[in-house]
Amino acid sequence: MDLTPPAAGWDPAAAIAEVKARIHVAEASCGRAGAGVRLLVATKTFDADAARMVVQAGGTLVGESRMQELDVKGPALAEAGATVHVIGQLQRNKAQIAVEQAICIQTVESLRLAERLSRLALEREKDLEVMIQVNVSGEESKAGVNPDEALALAVAVQALPMLTVTGFMTIGLNSPDEDAVRAGYRRLREIRDTALIESERGKYDLRDAWELSMGMSGDLEWAIAEGATMVRVGTAIMGARPPLD
Ligand SMILES: *Cc1c(COP(=O)(O)O)cnc(C)c1O
Repeated sequence: MDLTPPAAGWDPAAAIAEVKARIHVAEASCGRAGAGVRLLVATKTFDADAARMVVQAGGTLVGESRMQELDVKGPALAEAGATVHVIGQLQRNKAQIAVEQAICIQTVESLRLAERLSRLALEREKDLEVMIQVNVSGEESKAGVNPDEALALAVAVQALPMLTVTGFMTIGLNSPDEDAVRAGYRRLREIRDTALIESERGKYDLRDAWELSMGMSGDLEWAIAEGATMVRVGTAIMGARPPLD
């Protein structure tokens, strides 16, 4: 596993400030000034030194995608004081690493995976936050549950020991078509809104599921306009990365 060291002259504090400015402008221009959209830095493919530098520069919310990598970088991230979320597809045989190193698994897309996470969390007596990953773009290559099944899955997951469903996550359509991308993000927000409204009415038990993790380096403004509470940014902060295999 080849991980990329920090580039010479890379200034993570300046990069974070730039992205935070983008977030603030986006919030203000859609009537959400002061909404407090959180920035998660996606550090995949970069090494422990680069990840530590980002945390020390204030990017304390970190997303990791590959469990082998998280296993290697986890101690450095913990020591730097990072809050770690899992944002990559999680195989059940790697779930143990996720439960050990992360406080939130954003990529729950099946009850079987959630049951495994619940069992591992119970063994460790560790409360675990999870988000339901939804495939809003309908692309077959994309991970996530169908939008029509997202609420039922959220309800079933919330009923498992040690797990709290804190919201919904999606990887948007990779397209320059603003309307198409935003339609997907809007769909995720509608699912979240239904979860909260029906919980208020006592039908569901999803009161904590308010988070909308959506938007990346290229389209965070569109996601914020559709209600994102957390954007996941890699390239715009870490720099270009090699293609994932
Ligand atoms: C890598 C990654 C991101 C960040 O992507 P960029 O385009 O580099 O900002 C966001 N979400 C997930 C799930 C990722 O794997």
